[in-house]
Amino acid sequence: MPPFKAKTIGFKPRERNIFFHILTACNLSCRHCYINPAQHGTATLSRQTMDDWLALFHQPGQESNVIFLGGEPTLHPDLAHAIKSARRLGYQSVTVDTNGFLHHDLLNHITPAEAVLSFSLDGPTAAINDPIRGEGVFTTCTDNLKKAAAAGFDLSLIYTVSRLNLAHLHQMPELLADWGVKRFFIQVIGLRGKSAADPGGELQLTPEEWLATVPAVAETAAGLGLEVIYPKVFLDPGEPFQCAGNVAENFFIFPNGRVYRCPLCEDYPLHALRIEDNRLVKNDGITEESLFSLTIPEGCVMNKLLQPGNLRYDKGGTPLYRISCCLLKQGISGAAEG
Ligand code: SF4
Ligand code: SF4
Repeated sequence: MPPFKAKTIGFKPRERNIFFHILTACNLSCRHCYINPAQHGTATLSRQTMDDWLALFHQPGQESNVIFLGGEPTLHPDLAHAIKSARRLGYQSVTVDTNGFLHHDLLNHITPAEAVLSFSLDGPTAAINDPIRGEGVFTTCTDNLKKAAAAGFDLSLIYTVSRLNLAHLHQMPELLADWGVKRFFIQVIGLRGKSAADPGGELQLTPEEWLATVPAVAETAAGLGLEVIYPKVFLDPGEPFQCAGNVAENFFIFPNGRVYRCPLCEDYPLHALRIEDNRLVKNDGITEESLFSLTIPEGCVMNKLLQPGNLRYDKGGTPLYRISCCLLKQGISGAAEG
């Protein structure tokens, strides 16, 4: 039995996390892509706008972290400039979530001290990964990941678990330890973007499938010295429910100026905020904020609206468990505790 135990990573009220989609274009077409151009636009932000919006969201005196996202953020020719701007402004951590193609020779335009690189890979082999993410993607992504490791970058890897790759998750920890990856993010397939159009249920996991596999793989990975982070999903009995919209400062920014506080709302025009003339403006009427204050016995309101299949009730209609905020994570670290 591995000597590691997963803990809930509570929200940090004084911390700001900026999820900055700088464009929506991508060179891939993954089966579960959540980018939704009808809602998020097709614009690529200019260098100046990226600088302005980074300044808008940075709060001096408060820990601010930025994660550059797309589409594929390395397709943006000014990503390296934006990373340096974020550092200059005082962002505590800067992360780039990449599909592994590292366009515009990113590794030679930033230093390991400037950004963490987070690679997305959905299988331990090309045979598992490529049917999900595209022909040849496994080789390109892992080649670039190894180059980044050799250059001294701090690396994370995101594996989005679905029915297509759940059975292969257990092969990842050894590979990641071997490649020099420090952090392993295990994501659950969401009901957003393309995966929402999954009528045959080919992608979505049942709660039982998730619980039977993910915590055990996380323990194994921690045993190899990795830090593992995965969604909490099910609250323990007695554990308080908290909506990040009420207790945390997360901003999901899109190139059309929409700013969401809840990622589950991103497929709808429910954004609480928008950027207008480089100012953050609160939207009137019914927005995602109207949902944050609702209290229901099932936990997260948006989950009940979008993913009612996750819920189970007893004969009296009482929920058998509560679903946590999708932003609440479970963490287990071999690096810190081992
Ligand atoms: S790499 Fe990301 S943005 Fe591009 S298609 Fe895949 S999931 Fe979508
Ligand atoms: S996922 Fe649910 S609990 Fe979390 S911010 Fe959205 S509405 Fe709130």
